Amino acid sequence: MTVKATTALSWIDEHRDALIAMADDIWGYAELALHEERSAARLAEALRAEGFKVTTGTVGMPTAFVAEWRHGGAGRHGESGRRGGAGAGKGPVIGFLGEYDALGGVSQKVSPVQEPVVEGGAGHGCGHNLLGVGALGAAVALARELAARKLPGTVRYYGCPAEENLSGKAFMARDGVFDDCDACLTWHPGATNRVSTNSSLANNACNITFRGQSAHAAGNPFEGRSALDAVQLMNMGVEFLREHMPPKARVHYVITHGGDQPNVVPASAKVWYLVRAPERAQVDELYQRVLDCAEGAAKMTGTRFEVELLKAIWNTLNNRTLEDVLDAAMRRVGPPAFTAADLEFARRITESFRPDQKETYLSRQELSPEDLKTLRSQTLNDTIVARPAVLKEPSGSTDVGDVSWCAPTAQFGTACLALGTPGHSWQYAAQSGMDIGHAGMLVAAKVLAEAGFELVTNPDTLAKARAEFLELTGGRKYRSAMPPGQKPAFHQFADE
Ligand SMILES: [Zn+2]
Ligand SMILES: [Zn+2]
Repeated sequence: MTVKATTALSWIDEHRDALIAMADDIWGYAELALHEERSAARLAEALRAEGFKVTTGTVGMPTAFVAEWRHGGAGRHGESGRRGGAGAGKGPVIGFLGEYDALGGVSQKVSPVQEPVVEGGAGHGCGHNLLGVGALGAAVALARELAARKLPGTVRYYGCPAEENLSGKAFMARDGVFDDCDACLTWHPGATNRVSTNSSLANNACNITFRGQSAHAAGNPFEGRSALDAVQLMNMGVEFLREHMPPKARVHYVITHGGDQPNVVPASAKVWYLVRAPERAQVDELYQRVLDCAEGAAKMTGTRFEVELLKAIWNTLNNRTLEDVLDAAMRRVGPPAFTAADLEFARRITESFRPDQKETYLSRQELSPEDLKTLRSQTLNDTIVARPAVLKEPSGSTDVGDVSWCAPTAQFGTACLALGTPGHSWQYAAQSGMDIGHAGMLVAAKVLAEAGFELVTNPDTLAKARAEFLELTGGRKYRSAMPPGQKPAFHQFADE
């Protein structure tokens, strides 16, 4: 029989204001990938104050950290009910994954109309301020529950930087920090209360720099070799490649440097590529074909090129056993309740949406007829949405994928946004900094703590999750998709 994590749930209620204040502080810091100094410090300090042992600078990333709390059970530190293996002596090891990086260009005040705090600045347009603090609330609350019941167990909070673009978790996974977890749980702010059942796309990101020969663009252009021409021809090659890519593959690029002025033939130009596909092997092949386009463009233009890999990550393995645990925990905790003021804010923010935006969002969610009917009538989702029977098609990517190859992993979303809110948008940033986001975050903290407690107290469920994990991985040890020695791209946002 399931016993509710009553101590954990009341800890979250009692610390509601402190958790909200932390989420709002991180929302205000709005720090970009690998530059989350204040955000990481704020979270690490809070965990230290709650008795967690904190190790910072994990795997060479200054804004990564691991915080651990361990209870030996019945006052005997080190006692373990777990079958041998890596976690012996620690009790079950439950990991919560926290993120806290912001996104460039979506700076926004808490306002239902577009109003940046800093024009062109960064903002929490993916709600990672809520994500990081929600997971922290769960970690502390679960530790309190285990202490109150004198149960053996290890609670870990992983401070994971740079989810956006630079994939901090992939570096942590490569260096084995998740390997001894019995389960890793996380969540993401969303528009519905629902367990995630979709995988994610594996991907590679790289900078490609072309180098040519500068010349006066009118006086002696025949002596120049344009690096910008090479970027454009490479991109053109990739556009023609699109027709022949695997069906769910995605390739996107931005030109990050295209020269300095039109009257000088650009001697250098740079393009940032992201190559995604459902399977890791598909990415490997497609990435090579994209590089072939670079090579062809260099030949055509008489330029040279350099490739700088930024990161390479895996797709996500869905652990249905853990997803069931999360779903049951969410139903025990219940959905967020929104106030009249929240509903009014949400209604006003939807005025900035395209007329069909909410319907387009709903049409892609694989909803039961009942849930579709309910969600059509709602602006903020305050029910629990059933999971689809089959796995959904992957669309986005996340570095949680790499964690899912190291340990059994599952995720869910709670309603922190008006239905139809676009991803990575100012509307998202606005709601991440106010009561709508806070309500979803507190529910997420409770669901994670409740699920973590369920796992600590049910070794059979953990064993089932492990068996499923071994089946999904085919028993193969996780291998990073990055070459040995690959460093996180600390410089990619250095100028911002
Ligand atoms: Zn995002
Ligand atoms: Zn995100």
